Amino acid sequence: MSCVASRAKEENDVSLWHYRLGHPNFSYLKRLLPSLFNKDSIKLQCEVCQLSKHTRSSYPLQPYKSSHPFHMIHSDIWGPSRVNNISGSRWFVTFIDDHTRLTWLFLMKEKSDIGQIFQTFNLMIQTQFNTKIQVFKTDNGREYFHSQLESYLNSHGIIHISSCVESPQHNGVAERKNRHLLEVARSLMLTTHVPKYLWGEAVLTATYLINRMPSRVLDFQTPFQSLLRIYPHIHFASHIPLKVFGYTAFVHINQQHRSKLDPKSLKCVFLGYAPNQSGYKCYSPQTKRFYATMDVTFFEHQPFHSKNTIQGESCEEYYFWDTFHSLGSQQTNTNSACLPCLPIPTSESHPTSESLSYLPIQDATQDKNKEVIVYSRRKTQKELEDRITSKLAQETDLSSRLTIDEGNAPISS
Ligand SMILES: [Zn+2]
Repeated sequence: MSCVASRAKEENDVSLWHYRLGHPNFSYLKRLLPSLFNKDSIKLQCEVCQLSKHTRSSYPLQPYKSSHPFHMIHSDIWGPSRVNNISGSRWFVTFIDDHTRLTWLFLMKEKSDIGQIFQTFNLMIQTQFNTKIQVFKTDNGREYFHSQLESYLNSHGIIHISSCVESPQHNGVAERKNRHLLEVARSLMLTTHVPKYLWGEAVLTATYLINRMPSRVLDFQTPFQSLLRIYPHIHFASHIPLKVFGYTAFVHINQQHRSKLDPKSLKCVFLGYAPNQSGYKCYSPQTKRFYATMDVTFFEHQPFHSKNTIQGESCEEYYFWDTFHSLGSQQTNTNSACLPCLPIPTSESHPTSESLSYLPIQDATQDKNKEVIVYSRRKTQKELEDRITSKLAQETDLSSRLTIDEGNAPISS
């Protein structure tokens, strides 16, 4: 192979992994997958990174205080979103373990859901890790002082520390985490022109990816590695090869679900990793259904949504991720950003470096016979707003709340 061709392949592989992992800094990517980079280190630039990370407000770095996992949990709430997620959610809350920086992210339809979500999370920590949350650290948001949550914290001996009024930076760990999450989610959606109503799937996937990325505050370990040092017996639900969010996926239709002349697969958009199954989460706009399966063929060179055919629903506006609360200082910015023309990586690449142990990867063909349909979502905007029929979708969100696969830790903090 000529020198030029070799270099082009190297750049292609690096770009592919940069997309799969949610646009991490190239220096972190090099630490994670050194075999992708030869001695003459290539210098890649990514337009999506510039578009999605260009505003860098600074939060003071707090010294990392080592403690036992789960003794201190940081939390922050984001929302309301300008567009409902497909499940009807308008908010999300994060819980970040101070010691491992492992993060859980839960979508919420209402801010007041925080009380019930925290109780479920606390029970999961007790059952899975045989330890108790001692300190719950938040900003001064009113929802954290909801009577149901307050009485629960009091009755369980959990100390609630909140930042001072109008000083959210005192809740720095959670603030930085949310910012990082939004940066990655924005990158994922911009890369493949994913419509706004799928923002919730993007932040869940961002959480999944960041929990698997090295963090400076953890001496370049990943949050999962940090947890496994103390809880080596923990088995994680999902150990499957990473794919590029928003790309085309063909989901196999089992024989019992089709007649002889029907197509054998369904064209879907890949939207992350199933929370409680070892499978990919794919969505078909045609059937309005989610599918969790390993029996899927990816077209990683082909975004499902094209730049121009998404009904004005793309996530290309800079201010989409600003919530209604924060729009005050942003409303003058009404220009839509042009979506970047990126070279789309076209080849599969599976580095063989030891560092791949950071990323649980196994042969995707091992799990061929899984049932396909797992999720069922509502079909129309009207139905999205129907609280009664929303229960199923809510359960889907709840199930994602209880998996340690839905976490994240900051690269930049
Ligand atoms: Zn990038």
